[in-house]
Amino acid sequence: MRTEPPIPAQEAHGFDDVGRPAPALHPAVLDDVRRIWGFDALRPLQAEAISAGIAGRDSLVVLPTGGGKSLCYQVPPLAAARAGDTRIDVCVSPLIALMKDQVDGLRTNGYPAAALHSGMTGEERDDVRRAVRAGDVRLLFVSPERLLAPGFDAWLGTVGVRAIAIDEAHCISQWGHDFRPEYRQMARLRATFPQASLHACTATATPRVQQDIVDQLELRDPLWLVGSFDRPNLIYRIEPRVDGRRQLLEVLGRHRGDAVIVYCLSRKDTEGVAEFLRKEGFVAGAYHAGMAPEARAKVQDAFAEEKLDVVAATVAFGMGIDRSNVRAVVHMTMPKSIEHYQQETGRAGRDGLESECVLLHSYADVVKWNSITDGSADEARARLDESGADEEAYEALDASVEQGRTQLEAMQRMAASPVCRHRWIVEHFGQQYAAAARDDRSPDGGNCGACDVCLGEVRMAPDSTTVARKLLSAVVRTGQRFGAAYVADVVRGAETEDVARRGHASLPTYGALKGEDRSTLINYVFQLVEHGLLARTEGEHPVLVLTAEGSRALRGELEVPLRAPPRGRGRKHATAKAVHGAHEVDTDLFDRLRSLRRELATARGVPPYVIFSDATLLELAARKPRTLEEFATVKGVGEKKLADLGETFLAAIGG
Ligand code: ADP
Ligand code: ZN
Repeated sequence: MRTEPPIPAQEAHGFDDVGRPAPALHPAVLDDVRRIWGFDALRPLQAEAISAGIAGRDSLVVLPTGGGKSLCYQVPPLAAARAGDTRIDVCVSPLIALMKDQVDGLRTNGYPAAALHSGMTGEERDDVRRAVRAGDVRLLFVSPERLLAPGFDAWLGTVGVRAIAIDEAHCISQWGHDFRPEYRQMARLRATFPQASLHACTATATPRVQQDIVDQLELRDPLWLVGSFDRPNLIYRIEPRVDGRRQLLEVLGRHRGDAVIVYCLSRKDTEGVAEFLRKEGFVAGAYHAGMAPEARAKVQDAFAEEKLDVVAATVAFGMGIDRSNVRAVVHMTMPKSIEHYQQETGRAGRDGLESECVLLHSYADVVKWNSITDGSADEARARLDESGADEEAYEALDASVEQGRTQLEAMQRMAASPVCRHRWIVEHFGQQYAAAARDDRSPDGGNCGACDVCLGEVRMAPDSTTVARKLLSAVVRTGQRFGAAYVADVVRGAETEDVARRGHASLPTYGALKGEDRSTLINYVFQLVEHGLLARTEGEHPVLVLTAEGSRALRGELEVPLRAPPRGRGRKHATAKAVHGAHEVDTDLFDRLRSLRRELATARGVPPYVIFSDATLLELAARKPRTLEEFATVKGVGEKKLADLGETFLAAIGG
């Protein structure tokens, strides 16, 4: 199969520089984008993807979250209709909630979309089928199961399918991080709908996953469009976890009233954190897979409807969230891969406004992940034993365990390295990093201006080599028989029963780091493990032992950097709310417009962002339009919304 090499990110983002202009779209197409969505320009690669869609050429579109993938498959059906094509376009989407929201959003814009899914009554489905037959639907959303259900494909065949967009296409690849068995069947799409062009879209795909998508879907000479993986509007911070809840509060202090997702590793943690936050005065809830489906839906809806600010969740709180104004994503523990990190942090700032991602990590997370992986590998192996599986199945299992470890190590290395986070992520996905020009901080020498490293927030502990040697020495002097907490107690000179009983109070290292905070010392010990100076034994009661590298450090042959615990960042980060272009944002007005949006959304039974995005509200609160003509020039205001909502919002702005 012949495929085009992907367009490198920096070219994709700077066509002018390399003399490869984006394809010129027909003026009528640009007019659609203006009229329906209220956007006067396309984002990088949208023009390429849209023109492939119109031409019926297969494509693979990899754009970061918030990059605007939906437009790539929503615009072509309109052009096809104009050209007299009577066939419809289909979009396969993995979650009903996502489909519903997209369809609501499109309808609000006056766009002819509909969905068919199992959450609808038979009558509702009949209505949609009739509308499709009558040519009143140009884009139909369906689940993968439905699309290939016997009978349905035949029915679609009689209608005629022009193009099929596969959203979240990485779910088809087992090399991705979110493999979904039901996506596997999509390998039959090509044979089932040979006349239709196929368009795969995803936000997170390494080159290997991209290739796998192309192969599985049997894409024919696809236009291969890979945007930059960078999300310049996200500020990344990665900190050692010393006192997780205090660190969480510090972050949330910058985001009162904003939407925040707090990812936790266990179900119990989500409930504990939510409870804690409620006591601290936040409107917070918990979400995890162990909850009843109704309870889960309630939390998800409340968050979408802006009735809940903070959700403490496991990763089960994922793809269904389409709230575009999530201002912070906090990880209380380390995710198991950079792919997961990218995907989960990707839920912040989809509206393109500045948002913050904070990861709190400790070596304890690595230990936990390894034990989870080992546990599930053991279970899987037992299942293979039971079913008398062949050699190949065991090999596949080993390979996947091995792959999991490699991914975890990559994540761990990233967390432990004081290197620009934007650069690290982009390079991890096989691209070169070019710091994006930011409005308020010009990039210099690759400084992104949007991560803790480049913002100069990463501090090293003073005398860290000496501190490290004292800790290593305490490990040796106590006989390499204890864990981090005990070692910390010895060096800080704690007067505990255990220390007294074991006679460790008379050691020269006893109290060698008196005055240091216990949790900080424990974190330092974890950092020594991360640096490979200490190793943790296997078994039920793991203890810390010195490695060969550790001996060298103890002898003073190595410099050991230890990261100091984060300090409260007194200065509030310049928030996106302060200014918008040349105008200052009236924050009171912004809050009033948000309430108005919430009321309208509740009355119409749609999520608030379907009414207007935060970006639109912000522009309204800055420019304060007085007439419908002025209102129409605001980004995100199309013809239908102008007619529908213009007067109401103008009244709110004027009043
Ligand atoms: P993705 O699916 O890639 O995560 P979306 O399609 O949901 O991204 O788009 C993200 C946000 O960007 C949405 O609020 C969308 O309305 C907005 N958007 C998309 N294209 C444009 C554009 N050309 N100009 C301005 N905003 C856009
Ligand atoms: Zn940086």
